[in-house]
Amino acid sequence: MVYKPSEKEEEYFVRQMFEQKQKVEQEKQKQLAEAERKKAKELHFMKCPKCGMNLLEIDYKSIKVDRCSSCEGVWLDNGELAQVVKLEKGALDKLFSVFSKD
Ligand SMILES: [Zn+2]
Repeated sequence: MVYKPSEKEEEYFVRQMFEQKQKVEQEKQKQLAEAERKKAKELHFMKCPKCGMNLLEIDYKSIKVDRCSSCEGVWLDNGELAQVVKLEKGALDKLFSVFSKD
């Protein structure tokens, strides 16, 4: 006698096959998203968010301030604004003098 799966069994196998394929596809999509993120980072890392030119890192009192080489915008990493705010007036003035033109 040849075993013939019931309709319910067949349905189960089809669904299982779909879920397996779906898993493979979702893994591909995940890798694609990671690749996109990596590409975006490579493209934008240390580039000015306003004009797209290179940012230059200035290390001042262990605060790494990024300044645009073109539009001279100043960018801070996460947590650095809090560090800047905590600077004493004298240190803050010095930080700004680093950025002033003369
Ligand atoms: Zn800029």
